[in-house]
Amino acid sequence: MAKIICIDPGHGGVYPTGDPGAMANGFREAELVLPPSLFLRNALRRSGVSVVMTREKDALPLPSRKSLGEDLAYRARIANNAKAALFVSWHMDAGATADPHGIAVWIHPSQKGKALATKAARISASVAAATGLKDRGVCYGDFQVLRDTAMDAVLIECGFITNPGDVQCMAKEVSQRKSAEAVAREICTILGANYVPESSAPFLDPEAAKLSIALYGSITQTSIEEITVACNYAANALRRAVGLEITTDLGKPTKAAADIIIRASGTMWEGARTNQLRKCFNVAADSLREALSFE
Ligand SMILES: [Zn+2]
Repeated sequence: MAKIICIDPGHGGVYPTGDPGAMANGFREAELVLPPSLFLRNALRRSGVSVVMTREKDALPLPSRKSLGEDLAYRARIANNAKAALFVSWHMDAGATADPHGIAVWIHPSQKGKALATKAARISASVAAATGLKDRGVCYGDFQVLRDTAMDAVLIECGFITNPGDVQCMAKEVSQRKSAEAVAREICTILGANYVPESSAPFLDPEAAKLSIALYGSITQTSIEEITVACNYAANALRRAVGLEITTDLGKPTKAAADIIIRASGTMWEGARTNQLRKCFNVAADSLREALSFE
């Protein structure tokens, strides 16, 4: 069974309905941890890893929560219900003064000296190297999300919101992307998955990708099983390229079916009205050609 990662962007929203997390230097922790979490989601899906998120908007996952404890228990439950292999909570630290700075990865004290400590150290070092921020390494804390989760769990404190240098860095999209890619690379190593860097994935317009996925889907409605498998394969290549969730993986197509869908892609390419759409049909057809070349 494919491994699932649960990503938990800390906090969410604004007072009084939400929880902004730490606030300093004109930023809320809740808003700064969401983009890198979403970039991490995209990077993992691009690499063929399944992801569940505790939140994807700047709001609490459980708006009706009565307490912080209930909010954190709900996040852990999402990971437990998904039977995730790893829980990754993304936060920023806050210091009593502006001085403390750098990246740390927190794990539960019960994991001291265990394999997870080594993995956490690698994640911290990797994010520090990617962002240029200081590597504070592994820290231990009896945090509720680390305690309530049934699987390996790490909490990334991705810099200090109270430190001007850290916050300037982490407010930039380029740093958010770099830190997310660094974590994705380490997670892929942990899972034995093949990390696919962003540069080697073709940039596709998400709307064009959705339209072409729907077109491949419409072919399957009137087709035999073999064709459905080939269409699913092509559509999943597009889903991976734009970071959409893969809900059904029917496996590799037969040569005969792949050939038919490669030809159909060519026909759709000719009829496409935009370059963006043509690019999508190219990516889909290439994925089928690649599937055949592995045989
Ligand atoms: Zn936090």
